[in-house]
Amino acid sequence: MRGDRSFWDPEHETMSIGELRAYQLSRLQQMLQWAYEHCPYYNNVWSAAGIQPTRIDSLEDFSALVPFITKEIIIDAQQRKPPYGGFLSVPTADLARIYVAPGPIHMPFTAEDFEGMAETVAIASWAAGLRPDDIANVTSNYQWVIGGTLGDCGYRKVGCAVVPGGVGNTKMHLEAMQALKVTAIFTFSTFLVQLAETAKQMGLDLGNDLALRVAMIGGELKPKEAITNLEQMYGMHIRETYATADLGMVGFECDGRAGMHHHHHHIVEVLDPVTHQPVPEGNGGEIVVTSLFRKAMPIIRLRTGDVVGFMSHEPCSCGRKTPRLGPIVGRVGDIPRVKGMFIVPKQIENALFSFKGLGRFQMVIDRPKVGDVLTVRIEAAPEVDQAATKPAVIRALREAIRIGAEVEFVPIGTLRESTPLVLDNRTA
Ligand SMILES: [Zn+2]
Repeated sequence: MRGDRSFWDPEHETMSIGELRAYQLSRLQQMLQWAYEHCPYYNNVWSAAGIQPTRIDSLEDFSALVPFITKEIIIDAQQRKPPYGGFLSVPTADLARIYVAPGPIHMPFTAEDFEGMAETVAIASWAAGLRPDDIANVTSNYQWVIGGTLGDCGYRKVGCAVVPGGVGNTKMHLEAMQALKVTAIFTFSTFLVQLAETAKQMGLDLGNDLALRVAMIGGELKPKEAITNLEQMYGMHIRETYATADLGMVGFECDGRAGMHHHHHHIVEVLDPVTHQPVPEGNGGEIVVTSLFRKAMPIIRLRTGDVVGFMSHEPCSCGRKTPRLGPIVGRVGDIPRVKGMFIVPKQIENALFSFKGLGRFQMVIDRPKVGDVLTVRIEAAPEVDQAATKPAVIRALREAIRIGAEVEFVPIGTLRESTPLVLDNRTA
């Protein structure tokens, strides 16, 4: 019985970084050999590049030699050679689940692969504080995509009773959660906000009428105040996670709440989105992940397109030794580089969160002579005292993005949903 344990998988969660790297290298070598022998896609690409798995002796070799894959590469390969694009590595008889999405992607899993995916959810759920006596509502989509079933099976592994609520119908979610005394919810923060609005219309008091004590939410960068507000409103604690349909839970928060630990069955690299070289400890970059358990369709060095604030190898107060990822701050391509720094729109959004009366914003980048100039155009309501607010906004922005920015207020309604978030006027 694991009920009294702090960790779901104490052996792997508390091994030292050195032990973890050795463990991962050994698993990686097996996975590379498997992909080389059974997966036509990798066999073709690696053979053309002269890569032999038996020659990969270290994680450094792996990073330096093995090419990336991307969602675009998978989609393109599958469109040229349907349905799997040379990625299927087991006989059809060994398949247990096939997902069609997200996007035009076919994703096959063996039963063992899917167990591995569910295990990533179990480890994250245990760290979030879920235990067998919890009743958990899974609000992800159960159709075509993996999200709902994955959350469901992960929670079942932990021993929770699952209410498969799925997406939509907020009123029914609230009624069921109240009647069944649901204690945990697997959701996005936007759905928590929506539930709170509907609860108000129904005359429900979230703190007293619901029994929720923990929520696991998607790892999008949100202001700390927004999370704290939700925690207070519901009278529960919230733990952030970072998951993808290809990999399961890649990162999960513990009670230390100083980043998201990553799962030992994933090799996680954080790379400069432009040079594709590893970033120095503490810096942000694009997350590249290799699954050490997916065999039906091996996922090796997948560029996720997600940019993370940092990766830390420092020990965590919770006792886990697995490295921690910072918050997800955006997508590659939405993040311009100004004066040598990546400027993350979400960081600007968060910096502006506490100012009353401000609306949408737009980043305008110019290069009048040699240096870059970033101007943040921000909608301000008529009651905003612009002269008094401007210096405070400039200070908050400097703190958030680490470079100086000009601020220009514009009337509410000037910037629309269709207005580009980034206007880059620099000519190469
Ligand atoms: Zn921790």
